[in-house]
Amino acid sequence: MSSKIAAVRGMNDLLPAQAQVWETFEACAVRVLRGYGYVQIRTPILEPTALFRRGLGEVTDIVEREMYSFVDSLNGEALTLRPENTAGVVRAVIEHSLLYDGPCRLWYMGPMFRHERPQRGRYRQFYQLGAEAFGFPGPDVECEQILMLKRLWHELGLPAVRLELNTLGQPPERARHRTDLIRYLEGHHDQLDESARRRVHSNPLRILDTKNPSMQELVAAAPRLLDYLGEASLAHFEDLQQLLRSAGVDFRVNPRLVRGLDYYNLTVFEWVTDRLGAQGTICGGGRYDGLVELLGGKPAPACGFSIGIDRVIELMRDNASGASDPLCQVYVLHQGAGTYEIALQAAERLRDCGLRVILHCGEGSLKSQMKRADASGARFGVIVGEQEAAQSTAAIKDLRFTGATSADGDTGRQRAVPLEQLAPTLAREFAQLAG
Ligand code: ATP
Ligand code: MG
Repeated sequence: MSSKIAAVRGMNDLLPAQAQVWETFEACAVRVLRGYGYVQIRTPILEPTALFRRGLGEVTDIVEREMYSFVDSLNGEALTLRPENTAGVVRAVIEHSLLYDGPCRLWYMGPMFRHERPQRGRYRQFYQLGAEAFGFPGPDVECEQILMLKRLWHELGLPAVRLELNTLGQPPERARHRTDLIRYLEGHHDQLDESARRRVHSNPLRILDTKNPSMQELVAAAPRLLDYLGEASLAHFEDLQQLLRSAGVDFRVNPRLVRGLDYYNLTVFEWVTDRLGAQGTICGGGRYDGLVELLGGKPAPACGFSIGIDRVIELMRDNASGASDPLCQVYVLHQGAGTYEIALQAAERLRDCGLRVILHCGEGSLKSQMKRADASGARFGVIVGEQEAAQSTAAIKDLRFTGATSADGDTGRQRAVPLEQLAPTLAREFAQLAG
C-alpha cells in the first residue's frame, strides 16, 4: 500500500455529517441578507499581495505573519491567499465602477486563509460571510447592519450572543491620542510584556486590548481615545446608540474594543459569546471610510462586518434541536428483468413532485436492498419487482410503520398502487406528514 496523504494542518474537511448545518446557515443567511437588499459578490481567492499590504496595513497581525503569500513561479506575480475579503471586495468595486450609479450593498461568503496556530475556533482555512455597504456616511447603515445580524442570530437560534460597540474616531483624533499613548507606554516600559513592547511604536492601540492580567491596571489608566474625540465623532457615536436603543437592540460600549485592522474609523463592533472558550467573537465589523480611496478609488464611505462561520456553526451544533431533514424521503428498489427502467421512471416522477429520492444502484436481493432503504432514513420504500412490473404497479412500504401487523403478514405496512398514481400518492402522504 502507498503511504497516506493527510490534509494540511489547520485546514479541515467538511464531512457529510456536518453538511446540513452548514446548508442551514447559508440558506438562512442568504434569506436575511436579501431581506435587507444586499446582493452577492464573488471575488477570487487569490489577490495581488500588494492589495492586503496596502489595504490592511503593514503592522497588522495578518500582514506581519499570517498571510499565505508566494510568488507564482510561472510569471513572477506576488500573490496571497485572501486572509479576509473586504480588501478584495473594495478592489472589485473600484475595478468595475460599482459605485457609479450610487450606493450599494454587497455580501460575500467563502474561505479565508491565515497562518495562525490552529486550535478550537481558529483554523488556517476558515469561512466568513460578510457584508459591505458603500456610499452611506451615517450611523443609519450601521444600525441596519447590526439589526440584520441580530435577526440572523435569532433565526439561527443562537443562544446568548451580545453586542459590543466602540468608536475609533477619525484619523487625526487617533493620531493625537496615539502620540500621548506612546508617551504613556514608554513611561511605563518596565511594566510592559514582550508583545506589548514590540507594539509600542507599531500598534499601541492594540496593547489596550491585552489579555495579560498583570497589565490590566496599566491599561486601565492609559489615555482614553474617547477623550480625544471631537464633536462630530461623538455625535456620530451617540446617534448610533440612540438608533439602536429605539430599535430595541441591547449593547455594551467597550472602550477597549479596537479590532485588528488599520482601515477602521468611527464605529466598530463585535458580537461575542461565552460559549466558545477563548475564541468567543463570532462577528466583527465597523466603518472604514478611508479604504476605497486608499485602494485607488474615488473616496466613498463604507461600513461592513464579517462573520466567522466556523464558530457560528459550532454554536448552532451546541444548540441543535436534533431535528434534521433525513437525506432521503423515498428509496426505490427494483429486481428482475426490465424493472430498473420502470424504477428509474418512477423515481423521476417522484422527484418531479419535489421529493428526495434514492434509486438503488447495482444488483442485490430485495432483502439487501431493503437494508439500504432502512439505513437511508427514507420514510417509504417503493418496490418494483417482476410481479409489480407485469401489473404496472409498485409496492409502497412504510419503513417507519408502527401499527399492528395482521396475521397474513405485512398488509398494514405495504400496499400496491398503479404506477401512474405512485407519485401523487406519496406526495399526498408527505404533505399529510408535514401538516
Ligand atoms: P480574532 O481576534 O479571533 O483573531 P480577528 O479580529 O482576527 O479575530 P476578523 O479579521 O475580524 O477576526 O474576522 C472576523 C471573524 O472571523 C472573527 O470574529 C472570527 O469569528 C472569524 N475568524 C477570524 N480568524 C479566524 C480563524 N483563524 N479561524 C476561524 N475563524 C476566524
Ligand atoms: Mg486574528
